[in-house]
Formats: sequence, C-alpha cells, structure tokens
Amino acid sequence: MKEAKKYKTTCCYCGVGCGIVATDLGNGKIHVEGDKEHPVNKGMLCSKGMNLHYTVNDKSDRLLYPQMRMNRSMPMQRSTWDETLDRTAAIFKTFINKYGPDSVGFYVSGQCLTEEYYLWNKLMKGFIGSNNIDTNSRLCMSSAVVGYKLSLGEDSVPVCYDDIEESDCILVEGANPAWCHPIIWRRVEAHKAASPNVKIITVDPRRTQTASASDVHLQINPGSDVTLNHAIGRILIENDWLDNDFLKNHTDGFEEYRTKVFEKTLTESAEICGVDEKSILKTAKLIANAKGFLSMWTMGLNQSVIGVNKNLSLINLSLITGKIGKAGNGPFSLTGQPNAMGGREVGGLANMLASHREIANPQHRTEMEEFWGGNKISDKIGLTATEMFKSLEEGKLKAIWIVCTNPMVSLPDSRMAELAMKNAKFVVVQDISNRADTIKFADVVLPAAAWAEKEGTMTNAERRISYLNKIVDAPGEALPDAEIICRFAKKMGWGAKFTYENFSEIYHEFTQTTKGTNIDITGVSYELLKEKTIQWPYTNAEEKVKSSIGTKRLFQNGEFYTPNKRAKIHAVPDENLSEKLSQDFPLILLTGRIRDQWHTMTKTARVNKLNQHLPIPYVEIHPNDAKKRNILEEEIVEIKGKRGDVKVKAKITDEVKQGTCFLPMHWGRVLGNDFGRANNLTSNLVDARSKEPDFKFSAVEVTKY
Ligand code: SF4
Repeated sequence: MKEAKKYKTTCCYCGVGCGIVATDLGNGKIHVEGDKEHPVNKGMLCSKGMNLHYTVNDKSDRLLYPQMRMNRSMPMQRSTWDETLDRTAAIFKTFINKYGPDSVGFYVSGQCLTEEYYLWNKLMKGFIGSNNIDTNSRLCMSSAVVGYKLSLGEDSVPVCYDDIEESDCILVEGANPAWCHPIIWRRVEAHKAASPNVKIITVDPRRTQTASASDVHLQINPGSDVTLNHAIGRILIENDWLDNDFLKNHTDGFEEYRTKVFEKTLTESAEICGVDEKSILKTAKLIANAKGFLSMWTMGLNQSVIGVNKNLSLINLSLITGKIGKAGNGPFSLTGQPNAMGGREVGGLANMLASHREIANPQHRTEMEEFWGGNKISDKIGLTATEMFKSLEEGKLKAIWIVCTNPMVSLPDSRMAELAMKNAKFVVVQDISNRADTIKFADVVLPAAAWAEKEGTMTNAERRISYLNKIVDAPGEALPDAEIICRFAKKMGWGAKFTYENFSEIYHEFTQTTKGTNIDITGVSYELLKEKTIQWPYTNAEEKVKSSIGTKRLFQNGEFYTPNKRAKIHAVPDENLSEKLSQDFPLILLTGRIRDQWHTMTKTARVNKLNQHLPIPYVEIHPNDAKKRNILEEEIVEIKGKRGDVKVKAKITDEVKQGTCFLPMHWGRVLGNDFGRANNLTSNLVDARSKEPDFKFSAVEVTKY
C-alpha cells in the first residue's frame, strides 16, 4: 500500500469551480476536503463536492473495456482498443466518403476538460471537414453567449466572484444559487450577514430557497422576464436614475430602448408579470441607489425560446445605469457545468472556432486552417444539439459520437431523442458509467477515465482557469478522453497532427490559438496552473509579473469588444413565444435542479447521503390547482403534454404559482420506467439565435392516476 498523498484539484460538478484537496489514500481510494487556500471557496464545499470521493471510490458501475456489437439486436461484446477504433474509423470513413463530412457528428459536454474539448473541435472542424460538433452546454448557456456577444461584443463574463463582496444590490433572476451554485450563495449570505444594508432581489416563478432568503421576491409569471426588465428600465429612465455620461460615451441604442420600454405602462407590465407595481418600483430604486449592482442568472433566462432577449433585457439594466466595469458591478451569467466556459474558449459550439472565432468569419476560418494545417474548414454552421438529433431521426446524419453526456435523459422531448437514436446508423458512446441510459442505443462503447484519473484544465464561471491533477489510475482499460481522440485521429490518418508527448503540450497548443485575441492566455502553462489559478486574459507580459493572477474584471476602461468599442443596448421585443396553453393543457410546466443531484444522476445517485435529500421525483403543484383536480399530497398523478406523459408523486405547495407546476430534471430512465422523466413533456421549441431549448415552459395537464 502506497503512502497517503495530497493533491490540489477542482470540483468537477458545477461552474462555481471550488478548489479541492484530494488525498490519495494509497489503496486506490481518495478522500476530499475543501481547499482553504482556494480563492473561490476558501475551504467550503457543498453537499455534492464534499461527497465527491464516493463517486471515485465506488467503481461498481464503471465501464472497464471497449465493447461493440455488429447490430443492435446482439449483446455487446468485449473488444480491444485497436479493434474497436479500427472499426469505428472504417465506418466513419465510409459515411464521409459516401455522404460527405456532414454525415457524421460529435456531441460532447461541458464536463469535458479543455484539452479534450479542444481536440474534439480540432478533429471535426480542422480535419474531418464538418462543423457538426456541439455540446450539451448548448442546453444551458448558449443564450448567455449570444447575449454577451450582442451587447458587449464578445462572449466575455465581465465580473468575478469577488464582486459579490463589493456589491450592495444583488439581483438573482431565473436562478436558485442556494441549491444550484451553493458556494456562491454562501458567499452572498455571508456578505449580507456582515453588511445588513446589502439587498437581494430574486425574480423567479417559484419561491425557492434563494427567493425565501431575499429582501424582494418578484414571483413573476413564467416567460415575462423581458416585460419585467423593461418595466424596471422604464422606471430608471423616468426618474433619471441613469449614468448619462456612460450612456453618451460608451453605449449605442439607448433611444430605441427608451421608445421600447415606454410601450407599456407600469400597470400593464405588472399585470403581465403577475407582480405588484410597488415591488417593481422598489427593485428599480434599489438598483439605482446601489454602489455595486450585480445581476446573476442561469437557466430561467437561458433555457427559453426567448432566452437571448431575456439576457439582453437584463444586461441593459447594467448598461443604462453604467454599473459595469467597476468593482461590485456587472451582469454575471452563472454557468451550470464545470467547464462550460472552457468549451466556449476552444470553440466548442457548432458555430464557433477556437478563441472566440466564428465559423461565419472567413478570416477566422483561414487563421485556424493555417494554424492546424489540416483540411479546409467548412463555412457551413454545424448542427446544434437538438438539430443533430433531429437530423439523426430524419436519417441525414448517419453517425454520432456521444462523449460524457447522457442525452436520452437530458434532451428535451425525450421520445424524439429516442427515435433519433433508434434511427441512427452508428452510435459511439464514450462514458465512465454503465448507468448512462444512452448506452442502450450504442453500437460501440468506449470506457473513459473519470475525474481524478486524468489531468487537464477547466475554466469556471468567472474566467478562472484551474489545473486538475491525476490522483489515481483509471480502472480496467479506461483511457483519458484526450488519448482516445488522438488514437482515433491516428486511425483516420491524421496521426502526425494528433501526436503529443503529454497533456501539457495539448494545452500549450490551444493557448497559442488565443494569441492576440481578447482571451489571450499565452502566459498560462501547466507549470503556472500547478501553483495558482488564473483568470483570463493572461498574456506573456503578465506572466513576467509573478504576483499576477490574471484579469479579475473586464471593461474597466469603458471600452467594449464591439468594433466601435461601445456596448450595445438592445430594444428587444417582450412577446412570449413559448407554446400556448389550451383547454387540454392548461398548466405551465417548469423544470429544474434539486439540491443534491447532478444532471442525470449517473454519479450522484450512487451516493446514499445525496439520495436522502429528495429520494424520488415529485411534481410541485399549487393547492388551488390540486384541489380543482382532487389531487392529494403524495398521490401518484399523471402529467400529460403534447409530446408525452409521465407519472410522478404530487407535492402540494404554494411555492409554485397557481397555474404552474414544477418537475425536477434529473430522472429519466428509458425503456420501460418513465417515472418522473421530465423530458417526456418538455417543449422542443428553441431560441432562434442561441438554439437553446425552452425547457421552462411546456403546456401540460395534471390528473389523478
Ligand atoms: Fe462543487 Fe459546485 Fe458544490 Fe463547489 S458549489 S463544491 S463546484 S458542486
């Protein structure tokens, strides 16, 4: 037995990016505790983070060796890496030769490490010659990406966590950080406890734990965020609670915005939102009086058919008050997954290239073609997450390679997703766990190394890059994802461009793509990241200043990343484009996370302590709606929508608004047991620009079962 040894690393669950000290106990097992020296969490961990070692130590569900089958009616057979990748490469080449490069696709994950994310994109965009690579981050933050690009000129989070302690008004809209970003929330709570004049406003159709702890809870009707934000904007303008110098010198679009927000009176807006006028007035006043105004949001804004407009309408409030680029101020999109930000850096979306370059920009394509020295980069935007599965269903996309994500549970409209997988000609699933429901549809299964079994980097919600240590060996024949990609690339004939001595070389290659861009991290290396975390940008010049920790805050000089360096205020329409309610489906279904589970529960459901919080799925329904339907507490009910149905227990609570109900997103076993499978019901509408699904507004009916 080896001697116990401590390693610094980063939690692999959410975008908060907490530092962890993991102890290798010497027997293949580890123990974790919060890293007291880490600038994000200062030793704290939430329930998921503090139980992370159980998911590493329990290897009972791990995929241990490659498997394949010749057709789906046959059982999976153990295979070797060489045989499996030879066959996979042969099938990919056949489809590419016969139907063109757009006949294949990669569906990856915001949980991939930056190095892996970079390589998948290099392979698909730079060598296969298609842009058909998208990520499950499309389902959670692509509306924020477009919102930042349109308003600030680039997908760049302007703030940092230290702004929490510098703010005195925090507006949380469409988010429940008390459950979903717990360490951020603990910092907010601690700040308020130390400075009682700090005010928290929460905008959410549900009375969540975050809302309950807030000074103001605007319990709006689902889909009315833009109307609310415009109403706040109108009050700020009417009272001249603006930063007129900032507006004049650093923004465009204010006049159109003024006209737009004056289209509705406060009374009309309050009625549409279902909240009282006084609370909207109070909110506007708190924002106006704040020295530090921080807005935070997640899926309530992003996962919407009008997600981009919701983002823009909220960012507008920071711009018209000039509360951006200063300590304690700015719009802060909280990312859900641990490396959603890293994925954005490497161009992990179907419309992007490395370092915030765009597929649509010919110069950007040329730059990356020259850098990679591979094939011509297609000018056709690739298929986004839901488009990819639609294309499989229609038979146009022939092969899909799914990495580190479980779309059979996480995609909206699960039955369409199942049909897509059944129609797919060839499916590769690369995962750590045999619990991933998507495996049931696979032709090839590849075992991947998990967190703590490989090294690499991730970037959290505040642009902070962290190094993750390899602490224990992967079980069986499981390999780090980056190694699997390189082995496959060699089988495809591009070995020379995918040969690296170590993971550090892959990271270095990626950092060179950032040179001269707004996310320049040419000064960042593994050596540096082993000493400290870094917030981008961080150039070679900064690397020479040994005390530098990178860039805490962007736009401090009032110059934005737009061509004329001015931020753009967008006069967005405030209509709700979600599916319409009807007599048959009169209730609005909202979906979301619960405190102790992560995504599709393949990891967290293995930890007894985490299952104790809310062990079975339930639908929250308002007492008046339950009474009208004779539904009793804990009874099994059936929820029906246009796309499917689901059975689940009823939880009667006035924490949801009358006319709405809420179902956790995590459950979703396929093939027979659909108990609580939320995505049987969710809408397949997507935002026109971000292509992010409308997870939080589906028309349903709930009845006794
Ligand atoms: Fe991990 Fe997020 Fe919890 Fe921090 S807040 S310990 S990153 S799950």
